[in-house]
Amino acid sequence: MNDPILVINCGSSSIKYALVPVGADEPRLSGIVERLGGHDARLTARDQRGKELTLELPRANHASALKTIFETLGGQRPIAIGHRVVHGGERFTDATLLDDAVIRTVRQMINLAPLHNPANLDGITVARRLFTDLPQVAVFDTAFHQTLPDYAYRYAVPAEWYDKHAIRRYGFHGTSHAYIAERLANVSANGRGGWVIAHLGNGCSATAVHAGKSLDTSMGLTPLEGLVMGTRCGDVDPGLPHHLAQRFGWSMEHIERLFNQKSGLLGLSELSNDMRELEHAEAQGHQGAKLAIEVFCYRLAKSIASLSCALPSFDGVAFTGGIGENSATIRARTLAYLGNADLTLSTSANQQLPRGSEGRIDAGQGRELWVIPTDEEGRIAAETRRLLEDLKRRDEVSAKIIEDLS
Ligand code: ADP
Repeated sequence: MNDPILVINCGSSSIKYALVPVGADEPRLSGIVERLGGHDARLTARDQRGKELTLELPRANHASALKTIFETLGGQRPIAIGHRVVHGGERFTDATLLDDAVIRTVRQMINLAPLHNPANLDGITVARRLFTDLPQVAVFDTAFHQTLPDYAYRYAVPAEWYDKHAIRRYGFHGTSHAYIAERLANVSANGRGGWVIAHLGNGCSATAVHAGKSLDTSMGLTPLEGLVMGTRCGDVDPGLPHHLAQRFGWSMEHIERLFNQKSGLLGLSELSNDMRELEHAEAQGHQGAKLAIEVFCYRLAKSIASLSCALPSFDGVAFTGGIGENSATIRARTLAYLGNADLTLSTSANQQLPRGSEGRIDAGQGRELWVIPTDEEGRIAAETRRLLEDLKRRDEVSAKIIEDLS
C-alpha cells in the first residue's frame, strides 16, 4: 500500500492527472493533456524534481492520451487509479470501487450533470479498458454534501419533483471543502467547530461545515447556483430565463449557455473571467473590472453571513482556491462587508502571507480567519487509499472467518 495513487480528472477536452505518493507533503508528478481531439493537443507535466516535460499529441483522444500519461510516469507503477466524478446524486456518499454496476448508476446520473459526468465516464471507461489489473475508484464532488439536512437541500417547489426526479440541492467542490475542513481540524484549536469555507477558483462555492460535516453549501442542483464565478452568474431571479425567452425569443439552451459561459466576472466586466487580470485592470481605472470585483466580494460576503445560520457555533472563515489563496485584495474587500459578524482582518497578516501558503489572517480578537491552499488531488488519493485499505481489511476478516469455519 506504499505505492502511489494515480489521480485522474477527465474533462471533455482535457485530462488533469497527478501521481500522489503516501506522504501528503512529498513532491508529486503532475500534468495535463489539453485540447484533446485537436491538432494542437499537448501534454505538459512536471516530475517530482520539478523537471518539465512537453509532448505534442496531435489528434490524441482520451485513450491515446491516457496511454501516453502512463508512459510518462517513468516506470513508477501506481497501486490504483482515483477518478474525480462530478455528480454522485444521492446514491454515492463516499468513494466507491468502480465496477460495471457502479458505472451504470453513474451513467443514469448524466441528466443531473450533463456537462460533467459524460467526460468523467469516458475517462473511467478507457482507463478500465487499458489498466485491467488496477483497482479504480470514483471520488464524487457531491459526496461530502450528502450530510446536508433536508431543510437545506430541498427547494421550495412541488414535492413530487424531489420524490420522483431527485430535484434538490447537491453541492459541489466536495473534495476541496472536505480537505480544508480536515486541515482546519489540524491547525486550529476550534478546528472541529463551525466554519464557512470559501473555495474561490474559476468555479466558486462556500460551505458551512461543523464537526467535519457539510451542513449547507452555496451550489445546488447544478454548479451554477450561488456565488458569482469566472463565467457563471450564480444566483439570479428564477424569473429571469422566462423574461429573456419572452423578450428576445432565446431558447433555454442559449440562455443556459449565456449563464454558464458569458456571465459572472466576464459578463459584468466585459473584459475577463480572470481575477488577476481584473485586479490589474481596476488599478488602471477600468470601471467594468471595478464593478465585477465589488459584486463578487459583496455576494461572497452575503453568502458567508447566510451560511453561518447553518452552524451551531461560528468559529471562523477559511479561504481557498486560486483567488482565495492568492488575492489579499479579494479577502480584504469581502471581509470589509462582514464587520458585523465579528470577522476582523489583520491587514498586515493578510498582505504579508506569502502567495500559496497556509496562515491565519485575523486580528487576534473575534473569529478566526484562515488561508489554506487546497489539495483536491491529495484528497482523492487519500480517499482511494482509505477505501482500498478498508476492502483489504474486510477481505482478511472474511478469509479468517472461512478458515475458522473449515
Ligand atoms: P480552477 O477552478 O480552474 O482550479 P484556480 O483555483 O486555479 O481555478 O483559480 C483560478 C482563479 O484564480 C483565476 O481567476 C485567477 O485569476 C485567480 N488567481 C490566481 N492567482 C491570483 C492572484 N495572485 N491574484 C488574484 N487572483 C488570482
